[in-house]
Parts: sequence; structure tokens; C-alpha cells
Amino acid sequence: MANKKIETALISAGRDKKYTQGSVNAVIQRASSLVFDSVHAKKQATAQRANGELFYGRRGTLTHFSFQQAMVELEGGVGCALYPCGAAAVTNAILSFVGAGDHILVTGSVYEPTTDFCRHILAKLNVATTWFDPLIGAGIAALIQKNTKVVFLESPGSITMEVQDIPAIVNAVRAVNPEIVIMLDNTWAAGILLPALALGVDISIQAGTKYIIGHSDAMLGTAVANARCWDQLREQSYLMGQMVDADTAYMAARGLRTLGVRLKQHAQNGLRVAEWLAQRPEVAVVNHPALPGSKGHEFFVRDFIGASGLFSFILRQRLTQFQLEHYLDNFQHFSMAYSWGGFESLILANQPEEIAAIRPAGGVDFTGTLVRVHIGLENTDDLIADLAAGFERINESLDS
Ligand SMILES: *Cc1c(COP(=O)(O)O)cnc(C)c1O
Repeated sequence: MANKKIETALISAGRDKKYTQGSVNAVIQRASSLVFDSVHAKKQATAQRANGELFYGRRGTLTHFSFQQAMVELEGGVGCALYPCGAAAVTNAILSFVGAGDHILVTGSVYEPTTDFCRHILAKLNVATTWFDPLIGAGIAALIQKNTKVVFLESPGSITMEVQDIPAIVNAVRAVNPEIVIMLDNTWAAGILLPALALGVDISIQAGTKYIIGHSDAMLGTAVANARCWDQLREQSYLMGQMVDADTAYMAARGLRTLGVRLKQHAQNGLRVAEWLAQRPEVAVVNHPALPGSKGHEFFVRDFIGASGLFSFILRQRLTQFQLEHYLDNFQHFSMAYSWGGFESLILANQPEEIAAIRPAGGVDFTGTLVRVHIGLENTDDLIADLAAGFERINESLDS
């Protein structure tokens, strides 16, 4: 990031003249085959294929190189691998650093498909997973085994939003075995609100599907690696055939230009809604990293430069199926959908046992229904009115 401020870096990152060729944005270069002018040129391209020479579509084109350079400028490190979606970034990053007989440590608050990958794919490859409490901090040292190769973090955690003490975890892991590769799913912070690599993480992974794309209309995964891990991540991901198409890489670079202002508005809107929710009698707790009382709030204050728009809250009561449907089916401005990070507000709800079922380490510490919202770029007066009407629907169905 050098000495540029993040807002400035988001505007200029990756817009090198060799990629823009006279326009403002990088060109869209769609290609499988890239043509060599001579035997000598082919030899040259082959030798430099990992270093930004045009070689073959699966290694990327000018469009990809521009976006990859932008991500490195923004997140630090030396290289950025691209994947067709966030899940592919997570799984290929892990697969790049484990083999049969190895062991990995994964936060118990991790995104559900990451859990399922460990349970179903890694287990089949004889790679063992131990789950740890997201708030474990330096206590992680006690879980490290001789064959531990990867420590996988996600902060804030999926759905329950625990913020992890990354510096404490990094220091503890390094003290036991500096070879272990520390990865972080950095999607919530869009890679820029939490300086993962500066905090000692080796690989910062994102579902670019969320805030980088920002419009709920394309899928992408990114993994930015430091010098120690880049060659292995790049080559192993390449062998597994990982790449994204040029049009999506272009959309992602385009998304970067407005990422700063979008995130600021998501954060401002999200915080206003979260504070309003925290005052409601129906709400037991609001899991928003920027609110005091949210798990790991002190680490959020210390390590993050801002918030995004995703958080959850827990109702005092467990809604009946009728209440749940009456509540969720009738919002005006909140759509029900998986994913998040687009311009629009979203809502989902889960019963505590449904969350417990996707938590590999077992139960949850709440008994009410959990609601997860993504706060979009609408006016918050409208969103709050919509949420207030939702509480009325719950209270009505209580009375009847
Ligand atoms: C959405 C998400 C992913 C997966 O991204 P896809 O592009 O949907 O595959 C991974 N991690 C987190 C934290 C996510 O929210």
C-alpha cells in the first residue's frame, strides 16, 4: 500500500499503462490461446509464464494481471491467485499446503462450506482437522501437532461474528512452528478493512463475490499471498486448473473503484441499524463487531480500520415456524437470499439448533432465533421502518 491512503489506492491500483492501453480501465482480453511470434518468443513466454508474461489463458491475460496487481497493491504480499468463486479460493489454498497424514487447525466459526470441505474432502485425503474456539487467542499453541501444516482463521466468524485475536494467534503459532501456513478468510473486511498480511497472516482469502464484485451478479475468489507462500499457492492452484474468466476479472477491478465509498456507506448504515436493534426489547444481543459487547469487539477496535454491512442479532425468543414465516415473508426492502456484499439489503434467520448443527465443535450459547442481515445502500429510515414492521408481525402473532 506504500504511503497512499486506501481510498486513493483503490482508484489507481492495477491501472498500469500496459494494461489500460490508453483507456481508463484495463482492457478485456479474452483468450485461451495466446499467439507467439516466433520460437524464441514462445520460449521466452514459457520461461516467464509465472511472472506476468502472456502464455496461455489459464495463466491469465492482461485483464487478470491488472486485477491481480491491484489486489497485491491493496492487500500487500507478492501475488494474488484467482478462482471461479470464494469456495474454490478457500479449498485450493488449503489443498496447496497439505498432504496425506497432515493436520490442520480451523476456527469453529468458519463458513459452513469450509467446514464441509474439511469433513468430506480433507478427511478422504487423510488430512485431519481440529476445530478451535474463535476466541482461543494464544491458547492455540496447545493444539498444534507435529504434522500441523495450516491454521485457518475467519474473522469475524460466519453468522455469529466473533472477531479473532489475530496477532496473538500468529505469535503463538510462529513460536511453536514458524513453517505453519496461516490463512484467513478475509471476506467480511473485503481484504482492506483488516490488514491481514501486515498482521502476520500468510494468505488472505476472499470471496470476491461479495464486496469486490458488489452487485450480486458475478462470482470470484482471490487469495493474496506473501513471499513465503506465493510460489506454492500459485503453482498448486494452477495445477488444479483454477482461474476466472477475463470478463469477471474486469468486473472485479471495476468494483474496486467504488469499494471504498460503498464500504463506508454499508458501515454507516449497518451501524445505525445495529444500534437501533440493540435498543429493541425483542433483541437479546446484536453481534456486530463495532458494538461493545460483541465477541472480540476489543480486537475489532484494535485491528480493523472499519466495518462492513453484515451482522446478526439474536431474538429473546425462539420463533415458532408460523412466526418465522410471517416475519421473513413480508419484508419490503430485505430480500431473502444467500450470499451478501451487494448494494441491497438481505435477511435470513436460523434457529439455534440449525446453527449448532453446522458448528463442528458443537453447540451454541443462545436459545433465541438468530437473524442475519446484510445492510445495503438504501436509506436507513426505510430499513428501520421495515424491521420495526417485522417486530410488529412477531408481536402480533404472539398475541393471537
Ligand atoms: C460467500 C463466502 C465464501 C464463498 O464464496 P462463493 O463465491 O460463494 O463461493 C467463502 N467465505 C465466506 C466468509 C463467504 O461469506
